Amino acid sequence: MYLTYFNGNWNEGNVPLYGAMDHSLWLGSSVFDGARAMGGKLPDLRPHLERVITSAEKLGLRCPLSVDEMEALVREGVAKFPADAELYIRPLVFGTDGFLIPVPEASQFALTLFDAPLPPFAGFSACLSTMLRPQPTMAPTDAKASALYANSTRAMREAKARGFDQAIVLDAEGNVAEFASSNLFIVAADGAVVTPKLNGTFLAGITRARVIALLAQEGVKVEERIVGPEELLTAREIFSTGNYGKVTPCTRFEDHTMEAGPVARRARELYLAFTEAS
Ligand code: PMP
Repeated sequence: MYLTYFNGNWNEGNVPLYGAMDHSLWLGSSVFDGARAMGGKLPDLRPHLERVITSAEKLGLRCPLSVDEMEALVREGVAKFPADAELYIRPLVFGTDGFLIPVPEASQFALTLFDAPLPPFAGFSACLSTMLRPQPTMAPTDAKASALYANSTRAMREAKARGFDQAIVLDAEGNVAEFASSNLFIVAADGAVVTPKLNGTFLAGITRARVIALLAQEGVKVEERIVGPEELLTAREIFSTGNYGKVTPCTRFEDHTMEAGPVARRARELYLAFTEAS
């Protein structure tokens, strides 16, 4: 079931949100986030809602709801599904008036919830994208802005055309940034668990931060440092983190195949235990 809250009402199905003169439709002023409900648990919901507000601000939009108001709506929506449902939660803020001028004059909020089981811990393949992440001076890279996903979509289309499930995107310096729609970790050839150091060109993932903290509690230190693309070819493990799939192993990078390894498996278990306790 798809359930959308918009303008004070809950409706099922693909509810129309846009007006023909909305700024977001013509000029790309929308931001969104994603979170999960798993058996009534809402891991890290508040950071995702806080990010909706900050993402909106970075595009000159104003989220019309506070975090508390959004959280209350999310809980109201989740309660409309069976108690054990696995749901995806998508808040959206988009510019409405002012489609002829670069600055949106008003913003709206919408929230969509739908059934989406957590993807299994199954390996996916990834290739190296020819797209690069834009630099912070070129695009609102510190916001979860819909407009940035035009490039993620190009990277994914290129990957699919080459027979891969995912794309790994480099930053403008030629270092590994992230997957097209999630953050990236490796277990390097020397056994170190590593993730690219935040440099403003890719999303500071909430799941990334959570996984780093959960592994640290187990005594596994994640090194945040520059990762060169050549390290992907010798990595023992590569895995992704993101709000949709949580922790998922990449078992093939270009021609280099790997097992779904113990660090990714442990990180996934820890995330699920954290969810249970949240
Ligand atoms: N990078 C990109 C481009 C993404 O779309 C996502 C998913 N939101 C992530 C990273 C992971 O971020 P988070 O863990 O905050 O969902």
